[in-house]
Amino acid sequence: MTTIEKDKQYIANTYGRFPVTLVSGHGAVAVDESGKEYIDMGTGIGVTSFGYCDKEWVDTVTKQLNTLQHTSNLFYTQPGTELAEILCKKSGMKKCFFGNSGAEANECAFKAARKYSLDKYENPDRNIIISLTQSFHGRTLATLKATGQDVFHTTFGPFPEGFVYAEANNFDSFAETYNENVCAVIMEMVQGEGGVIPLSKNFVKKVFEFCKERDIIVIIDEVQTGNGRTGSMFAYQQFDIDPDVVSTAKGIAGGLPMGVCLFGEKTKDTMTPSSHGSTFGMNPVVAAGALSIVKRLDEDFLASVRVKGEYIRKRLSECKNVKSVTGMGLMLGIETTKDAKAVVLECIEKGVLPLTAKNKIRLLPPLNISDEELEKAMNIITEVIEE
Ligand SMILES: *Cc1c(COP(=O)(O)O)cnc(C)c1O
Repeated sequence: MTTIEKDKQYIANTYGRFPVTLVSGHGAVAVDESGKEYIDMGTGIGVTSFGYCDKEWVDTVTKQLNTLQHTSNLFYTQPGTELAEILCKKSGMKKCFFGNSGAEANECAFKAARKYSLDKYENPDRNIIISLTQSFHGRTLATLKATGQDVFHTTFGPFPEGFVYAEANNFDSFAETYNENVCAVIMEMVQGEGGVIPLSKNFVKKVFEFCKERDIIVIIDEVQTGNGRTGSMFAYQQFDIDPDVVSTAKGIAGGLPMGVCLFGEKTKDTMTPSSHGSTFGMNPVVAAGALSIVKRLDEDFLASVRVKGEYIRKRLSECKNVKSVTGMGLMLGIETTKDAKAVVLECIEKGVLPLTAKNKIRLLPPLNISDEELEKAMNIITEVIEE
């Protein structure tokens, strides 16, 4: 049997996969079973931040693998502790909790927001979390319910209660959705799965001020937008706000599973012994991988991410059939007159791997993709969009 046949027989049928079996990769290039090479413009959905098998990342991870691979959280370890310090220094947040995925980071954020509220107000009804339409926050029962898209609320009920929805980029809708039992709001600065839709600065600022006045915890979901993807360490740093809780995952460890919940001044001491935990969280190998990525996200590097994003926008502005380009940095959505899935399949034929998000072509290239590779990929993508 081929890998595709075996997959169909033995893997639960939860994914619509592209008809390609990838076997190796180097830098921005992925290689399939036949040896065909592709320029990767999707990075495993914003995960392989420095491409495939980046030398520094591989060296750091393998060194840690050969030193200490796991201890549980009953012991102190160095890589995760060092990582937490760097994350706090780069973000202005105060403390970290480590888990293994974006959904888990958001679950931790919800628990912290509700505990903060209960500790302070001693009112168990003050537990409602506002999320935005078109958002995406994960696949666990609570994060599905937190996802502001009705299609995710159909099959798997009963869901955890306490989530209400306001229209993204509509402050009046947000104010109407608010009631005195609201304890938190969660939002993505650029809604990724929802179609690469950025929130407006004005909306974010108004929501933030509204929440500050009422002691409502502001959770920013930076699972996709974080770790340099949008041209700053975290996207919220381009919105002039200081959130109470930040969740991140995807690109942080360069291809290893990690989710982090970061706590700000208000919430830094909310989570207390045995209020939360994770067996694999802060695993030293994963943390070492994340350290090698996060260390390199300095101001010069982030500026290069913004320049590459501008280059993609410029190429698309000169390309016919493009209706709109949205996003920030190297997280971009392209609406064209053609069907997005059809464009992606044609690009794959021609040796480029983009993604889709709703009706858009979504680009999440490696943050360190070379100018030549980026030019080559954009030549193919614009050719497919135009023809
Ligand atoms: C991918 C994603 C999640 C879920 O992350 P997992 O690691 O798949 O659990 C949550 N929020 C956002 C914004 C995401 O893009």
